[in-house]
Amino acid sequence: MRTFAKPMNSYMNIKHEIQVFNTLTDKKEKFEPQNAPFVGMYVCGPTVYSHVHLGNCRTFTSFDVIYRYLTYLGYKVRYVRNITDVGHLVDDADEGEDKIAKKAKLENLEPMEVVQQYTNDFHAVMYQLNNISPSIEPTATGHIMEQITMIEALIAKKMAYVVNGSVYFDVLKYNEIKGNYGQLSGRVLEDLYANTRDLEGQTEKKNSLDFALWKKAMPEHIMRWTSPWGDGFPGWHIECSVMSSKYLGPQFDIHGGGMDLKFPHHECEIAQSTATFDKQPVKYWLHSNMLTVNGARMGKSKGNAILPAQLFSGNHPLLDRPYSPMVLRFMMLQTHYRSTMDISNEALLACAKGYNKLLNTSIILEKLTQNEIEPINDKLNAEINIYITKAFEGLNDDFNTGIAISQMFNLAKLINAFFNQQANINTISESTFKYLKNTYKVLFSDILGLKNEADLAFASLASDVLKIYAQAKSEKQYDKVDAIRAMFKSRGLVIKDMKNGIDWGFEE
Ligand code: AMP
Ligand code: ZN
Repeated sequence: MRTFAKPMNSYMNIKHEIQVFNTLTDKKEKFEPQNAPFVGMYVCGPTVYSHVHLGNCRTFTSFDVIYRYLTYLGYKVRYVRNITDVGHLVDDADEGEDKIAKKAKLENLEPMEVVQQYTNDFHAVMYQLNNISPSIEPTATGHIMEQITMIEALIAKKMAYVVNGSVYFDVLKYNEIKGNYGQLSGRVLEDLYANTRDLEGQTEKKNSLDFALWKKAMPEHIMRWTSPWGDGFPGWHIECSVMSSKYLGPQFDIHGGGMDLKFPHHECEIAQSTATFDKQPVKYWLHSNMLTVNGARMGKSKGNAILPAQLFSGNHPLLDRPYSPMVLRFMMLQTHYRSTMDISNEALLACAKGYNKLLNTSIILEKLTQNEIEPINDKLNAEINIYITKAFEGLNDDFNTGIAISQMFNLAKLINAFFNQQANINTISESTFKYLKNTYKVLFSDILGLKNEADLAFASLASDVLKIYAQAKSEKQYDKVDAIRAMFKSRGLVIKDMKNGIDWGFEE
């Protein structure tokens, strides 16, 4: 697990009581892990039958920041994010082909080749976005035995029944005993029955709302395992009940995923786990909201998906130009994870400028030094402390990264004023200066997970070219000066001619 350096003073004046919005109770609650400082967090991972799109990335990035922030605060987080490599059927219910098997057939590949290819792709994208790897990344196919064991337990408790080689969860029976089916999604059982179509093939279920725990494999099915009920494969929901309880115990702290998973996936997870262990499995359910394109949810099957590679190359009909992974990350974090977020060229362009502002500020802050202490400007000192406090208050309030970023812009304004000598860095106290330096870095890098994408070789080359620029300027060789400026601009860089020297930065 990664640990982060804590800024000095961080606990002096910051209230570190976290409030989280719990979808289960539909309200904000004080975050009190069952066994602090340990925190168990499970997030539903991708179904690896195609490339992840920007919507998927938003959800994983939201939980990455939650993981980072809890870790920063000193919690010892075990973060489990699974890979769904079997059981997710094309219609998201119990009929149709397995998404992975379908893709394998189309491309004439082994299902595990499809799984490997898109798992690799997923990992590469998570790396580009600077999302930290989870502590454990279990796969559904790696836990077939455990899934069979849980299904057997459910049958023994008469919460599940076997029909013709398939096993179904008995929703009505469960609800009779536990009375909470629909609790998470706010759905009422009677309405659900009234609205469920009796699809062909569902006739073997006692009730249309029952869901598959295990499906009998037809002869043409390529993904199959032996079981007490014959050859088959697990249903989609059971894997998450099994893997979360195996690695985090029957009751754990945080379960995350996108809002679209609340029903049926998470509702079914609660039912399976509660029926098995006689306990509510999760203390805090956190759901991130959808990334939309022109107001419509981005989805693989909706034909409006933008892939990370398309954004990074600019090669997509909806995009005017490429944007880097960190601009995407910044964009995602500017909006609170529970609000919808619409992607557009305008929004991306504004984010590119905003991200560059914070990045440039982080670079100049490294260079900033105090040379002597002059009489302290109390107002300036207080201002810095207030912005930092507010940034953390935002994070403590259900991980509101948007508020943290807006306070970082306030800090950026001051830091730039110090750098341009419009404000005097020597009039803030030594401890406030250290606090500012450390905290800005911690917020930017450790908590928000932003980074400078230019490598050191690039930065040192740019600095060398700047020396030639300075020389040309002093010799009044304006053609050369203009050529160098144009060269920087074409790479999204600007040369800053300041009172106290020349520097370069990213275009804001
Ligand atoms: P999937 O691979 O379809 O199982 O989805 C992986 C994760 O991405 C799940 O947590 C989904 O809720 C989430 N997700 C899917 N579409 C979107 C979207 N448009 N915006 C945000 N999250 C999404
Ligand atoms: Zn899941």
